[in-house]
Amino acid sequence: MTRRSRGVLGFFLVLVSALAQGCVPGLGGWQYDALPDPWKTTPGVRDSRLFDAPPHFAPWGDGLALFLCRWSRTEAIGVSLPGDASPAELRILRRALAAWASSGIGVRFAEVSPARARLEIRFVPKPLHSGLGTGNALADCAVELEDGQARVRDGRVEAELRWASVHLIRQDRDAVGREVELDRDQLLGAALHELGHALGYSAHPVRAGGSVMSRTTEDVRRIGAAAAAGKPFSDANLMALYALPNGLWVGHVGLSEAARARLGTFDRAAREAGLSGPYSRVGDDAGRYFYRGSDGAPFALRVPDFRRDLVSGAGIEFLLNPRAEALLGGESAPGSP
Ligand SMILES: [Zn+2]
Repeated sequence: MTRRSRGVLGFFLVLVSALAQGCVPGLGGWQYDALPDPWKTTPGVRDSRLFDAPPHFAPWGDGLALFLCRWSRTEAIGVSLPGDASPAELRILRRALAAWASSGIGVRFAEVSPARARLEIRFVPKPLHSGLGTGNALADCAVELEDGQARVRDGRVEAELRWASVHLIRQDRDAVGREVELDRDQLLGAALHELGHALGYSAHPVRAGGSVMSRTTEDVRRIGAAAAAGKPFSDANLMALYALPNGLWVGHVGLSEAARARLGTFDRAAREAGLSGPYSRVGDDAGRYFYRGSDGAPFALRVPDFRRDLVSGAGIEFLLNPRAEALLGGESAPGSP
């Protein structure tokens, strides 16, 4: 190929990718046009892939309010580091926290004991054939209810991320399935990626390009290597999330009468039992709405295909986890008190 034809091809690829970037709608079940003014024109939001992340949800009207959820920035987030981390691993994890703290999203971290942590980082063994990659993360959004409905003020639901857990795996498998230790850049990349989930970006952006939230481990490792070399770190998707008000309303979805009754019954039973919550948690596909008992165990309504249900417009159905089932006394009739 000549230099000129390579140049033309390069330009063409850039053009196609730019067009595609603008044309691929959000895959998280909501679109930027749904944002209230003036947020729909906030710089940095429309050219991010924030809308590939499914929204959080809570009861509202005849269905569910859909909203964004992130950490409040009024105080530092208490973080606990793994008790079994080596000095080299601790350096990597502290570097990942420092990278997010200086990424421009405005969060700060303070190291605390595990008992006081709101964001815990742990090493876990890699379950065989889990397909989990090099880690995962959970982030729980606490929602304020008023008369069984999400409390909405000025276009935002009163909600914030209040607890998160990052699980990192020290090993990966090589091309022939052998277990290999993660190198420094891989571990830093994995920690940056999972912390991005813990900070509120629940998905993996389509056409990730330079995002540390990419599903592609090579992208993540490359960004880990750049951060390890002291290069500035940021991420457009998290920047967009933190540029918007916490709890920002992004839409509403109706529920069938049966689903609405189950949600109402569950909320009443949870309140009567003195459980703490509710919380919303969303991942790539699944979502859950739950309370916690005094031992921390969740009582949950699960929506296994939450994102797909939103995108397709299919009705949302709630499945009870075993504790929620016990709370409702087996399977109570919809609408019963
Ligand atoms: Zn991920």
